[in-house]
Amino acid sequence: MSEQIQIPVAKPWMGKLEAEAAGRAIMSGWVTQGPEVAAFEQEFATYVGAKYACAVSNCTTALHLALLAVGVQPQDEVITVSHSYIATANSIRYCGAKPVFVDIEPQTYNINPVLIADAISDSLRDSSASRTRAILVVHQMGMPCDLKAILDVARRYNLPVIEDAACAIGSEIFWNDEWEKIGKPHGDIACFSFHPRKVITTGDGGMITTNNPEWDKQFRLWRQHGMSVPDTIRHGAKQVIFESYPMLGYNYRMTDIQAAVGREQLKRLPEIVERRRFLAERYQEKLSDVPGLKLPTQPSWAKSNWQSYCVRLPEQCDQIQVMQAMLDTGISTRRGIMCAHLEEAYQTEAWSCGRDRLTESEQVSDRAIILPLFHQMTEVEQDRAIGVLRTVCRI
Ligand SMILES: *Cc1c(COP(=O)(O)O)cnc(C)c1O
Repeated sequence: MSEQIQIPVAKPWMGKLEAEAAGRAIMSGWVTQGPEVAAFEQEFATYVGAKYACAVSNCTTALHLALLAVGVQPQDEVITVSHSYIATANSIRYCGAKPVFVDIEPQTYNINPVLIADAISDSLRDSSASRTRAILVVHQMGMPCDLKAILDVARRYNLPVIEDAACAIGSEIFWNDEWEKIGKPHGDIACFSFHPRKVITTGDGGMITTNNPEWDKQFRLWRQHGMSVPDTIRHGAKQVIFESYPMLGYNYRMTDIQAAVGREQLKRLPEIVERRRFLAERYQEKLSDVPGLKLPTQPSWAKSNWQSYCVRLPEQCDQIQVMQAMLDTGISTRRGIMCAHLEEAYQTEAWSCGRDRLTESEQVSDRAIILPLFHQMTEVEQDRAIGVLRTVCRI
């Protein structure tokens, strides 16, 4: 067979516009937490329909601040999924709190809302001091989780809901009779990532959206060492002012160079989402007749941005063998989403009250693979990936 170009699993779409934007920030002389960050926040808030958006260094720090804002403290419990990138569970541990893992729905790879109430009441029955303080849900691979059902339980127990929307910029949910963007937010706080593996990127970066002005104010203090006076105000001041540090803060800032790039990426987002949806639909059509292959399911009330397109392999197929066979023909794939509770970093304690109940989560990690999907992928390239997968699955 002739040499064929490698098809990566993902690839950011950026170019001259982003390079010029970064240059603009550099030449301006203001390179962090300045006008580009402020403008990016404004534009992002408008895009998702949130009152406030606060830019931070990445989504993991965003999640950390979100958990702190809703009052998560050492020894508290936070209900979440193990089936996610490890940063989700790690952010809970940064607060000294314990992640309590709930299993996923096999069709959407998202938290199973039916299991949440049990995990809460377990903690209420427990005589120890630890109690459920929050629910941290994930819109896994860009697919909106069942927020209606989740909020239903959360409100019953008066628990805040944080949305890990790392992958979900541009995803939509049907809400109040119309399609709304993930991040409005529908829960209390939503956190986004701009890592290159996500749909738009700033190299690294994150965003926190909320409609609560107090929390937004808090995020702005925490991200900048807890400093009372922002740089922009000090810079413009006509009189000498000293800042103070009323609380323990962090350095979770986004730079203006990143924000300038982010503003250009945001302009491309509608086109990116449209293309990804087109390619996902094409996968769906062209793979639907492969026996035993389980394709992702999109509920009628959800529109994914298809940050990842994840399929579950037929019973007779070995995950590593399939991935290797595809790689041998130049097609990169990735294993299904990891499970945090299976990693060594989570072997020190029994993190989950439901550890032995995470069967669906574990099965997906072992049996699913992520297929190539990125803005610039041509239909010819996609057909190549489809062809190889079909052949390999028949073995
Ligand atoms: C990527 C990802 C994160 C971490 O985002 P960073 O910006 O790299 O910190 C958190 N949660 C989920 C679900 C992710 O996919």
